[in-house]
Amino acid sequence: TTNFVIEGLKASIEGKEILKGINLKMKGGEIHAIMGPNGTGKSTLASALMGHPKYEVTAGSVLLNDEEVLEMAVDERARSGLFLGMQYPSEISGVTNSDFLRSAINARREEGSEISLIRFIRQMEAKMKELDMNPEFLHRYLNEGFSGGEKKRNEILQMMMLDPKIVILDEIDSGLDIDALKIVANGVNAMRSEDRGFLIITHYQRLLDYVKPDFVHVMMQGRIVKSGGPELAQRLEAEGYDWVKEELGIED
Ligand code: ADP
Ligand code: MG
Ligand code: MG
Repeated sequence: TTNFVIEGLKASIEGKEILKGINLKMKGGEIHAIMGPNGTGKSTLASALMGHPKYEVTAGSVLLNDEEVLEMAVDERARSGLFLGMQYPSEISGVTNSDFLRSAINARREEGSEISLIRFIRQMEAKMKELDMNPEFLHRYLNEGFSGGEKKRNEILQMMMLDPKIVILDEIDSGLDIDALKIVANGVNAMRSEDRGFLIITHYQRLLDYVKPDFVHVMMQGRIVKSGGPELAQRLEAEGYDWVKEELGIED
């Protein structure tokens, strides 16, 4: 199975501390949701885990199956099985979707066991069908001119093709209409397995109507301040975050 343990993670941007000691334990098969008001550091957490250079990790540890992620280079993190699906993925002109994915898949394989082009195309076409994506997206430049919904489906396509151990989705649901939301949710549900954990970052509980979390965590001011089950997401949706602040005596 998969074990993912974040302990005491602190991170800063341009000298300002954003993450103030994050603790979180996840196992394969589990879906965790992180919810929280804007600006509390949810995306910073995702970026720090992936090794984005803008975020300086100042303390803590992140173990994926007992290996220290914080000591890995960005590409090593991806190779070790971390995947981040983003709200605003980068556009890369000159690199097609299929080129990008094939090299990402091959980077994770031993030399000499690269996926054959035929097999890769077949797999990719099958997954694109599941996601109701036009096959022409194979040959389009990565995210260039994609609509919001297309970008997010493409993030899910990447997830499906890369077969990661820990999937982090950062506001992948924002701006999706209900049909696209269901397609994204179906993609996630189809990828549920005992070996894979999901960390779903979301501002709204909408996605959580379709992807049932086992645990819900509330993040405020750079910390996880409260954890519970799916009922917590429903209460946050209905009542907002003020009651959490009151309960815990958090000042704005
Ligand atoms: P959330 O995802 O919870 O909305 P973020 O992690 O995006 O929060 O932001 C947390 C804090 O860090 C905010 O105060 C934001 O302004 C700041 N911040 C995030 N990214 C940057 C950046 N690249 N440069 C400067 N400040 C940033
Ligand atoms: Mg935000
Ligand atoms: Mg964010």
